[in-house]
Amino acid sequence: MEIVVLKFGGTSVGTIEKIKKVAEIISIYRKKKYKVIVVSSAMSGVTNELVKKSRQISENFSEAEYDSLVSSGEQVSCSLIAGRLIHKGFKSRSWLAWQIPILTKGIHKNSRIYQINKKKIIQYLNQGGIPVITGFQGINEKDRLTTIGRGGSDASAIMLAKFFNAKRCIIYTDVEGVYTTDPNKLKKAKKIKVISYEEMLEMASLGAKVMQPVSIQDARLNRIDIEVKSSFINKPGTTITKRSNIINNKIITGISSTHNDAKVTLVGVKDKPGVAATIFKPLSKNLINVDMVVQNISPNGKETDLTFTIKSEDLSKTQKILKENTSINYRKLLFEKGVSKISIIGVGMITTPGVTYRMFQTLANKKINIQVISTSEIKISVLINKKNSKEALAALHKEFKLDK
Ligand code: ADP
Ligand code: ASP
Ligand code: MG
Repeated sequence: MEIVVLKFGGTSVGTIEKIKKVAEIISIYRKKKYKVIVVSSAMSGVTNELVKKSRQISENFSEAEYDSLVSSGEQVSCSLIAGRLIHKGFKSRSWLAWQIPILTKGIHKNSRIYQINKKKIIQYLNQGGIPVITGFQGINEKDRLTTIGRGGSDASAIMLAKFFNAKRCIIYTDVEGVYTTDPNKLKKAKKIKVISYEEMLEMASLGAKVMQPVSIQDARLNRIDIEVKSSFINKPGTTITKRSNIINNKIITGISSTHNDAKVTLVGVKDKPGVAATIFKPLSKNLINVDMVVQNISPNGKETDLTFTIKSEDLSKTQKILKENTSINYRKLLFEKGVSKISIIGVGMITTPGVTYRMFQTLANKKINIQVISTSEIKISVLINKKNSKEALAALHKEFKLDK
């Protein structure tokens, strides 16, 4: 009998009614004679509430206790799913990460799964049981609970599929699959049938919340095909797979956007070797993720302007660090919240010239000013004023024929 891993996201288990529906879906796979491993996230909103509570207790809440606290939502949803399966006459039980165990490495809040002990789960599957496993959690070498980053149940599912050599790994969520852009932001977004790991990784890293970026890295490394589909409507979803499995004639596969970025500019920085390192070292030490960086060419060889983006929630911490950093000399420090990063993604741009120009011209036609640009082989990102992001998204979606 083959193994299938079914992962349910927060919205799929957000209410008692939805959990009953999830149990229905699971029972269909069981009747198809699959051995089913279920992974669940916490009921929607629960993890956010727990994060909020930790902040109310302390601005510097212990990171080990944070993991213990915020991973607790998964215990509730898994027990409810298992309880419903038992109600329906199946053999089922919840498994917390430490009971298996699922072993992780790395720092609290952001660990990575590296090993899953298979023995107990295999035994349980062989007895006809349906294990319902908490996503998002693991334990470290000190037996402390860990979490694997927000949205991490996706990675839990992929790693379970890897270790149990599952035939299929299905991510059930609140949309019908991966779309050309967030369907909740643009009505014209279209469902993508197949997408490569590389494109999905870029889309996810650049704001498409539908899959956690780390989970796509794990899937690519281990060559695990992922199916993303709706837990509410029974329709084919999206397959995430290797590039050679895909025939695609589109230049751009998708567009991602972010809305909680902030821009920092240091005006008149003394231009000498090591200056960028002096600015960024304390930020990285404080785990502040610096995203787009531009340094202007210095006109007189003495001074330059340096701009970079961060998440808005890191702004006050960044301000403090920069102001306290006495090793850097600059004339002025500027901060701007309300910026948005729009990225077009597609392997098609490797072989198609003129994509950059088309993107810039489309924005120029709408009189949208580009503040920062960054590119990789398969993506172009621009930073614009947040108030223009909806219009930019719609215009680019049309320009690259994603509306059809
Ligand atoms: P889950 O609770 O199932 O993990 P998430 O909220 O993490 O679900 O992810 C699903 C959400 O991702 C959708 O509701 C949608 O708004 C958002 N999303 C962003 N970009 C995309 C995209 N390109 N395709 C599909 N959904 C997207
Ligand atoms: N419940 C966790 C979170 O909200 C994990 C997940 O949703 O995948 O981040
Ligand atoms: Mg998610």
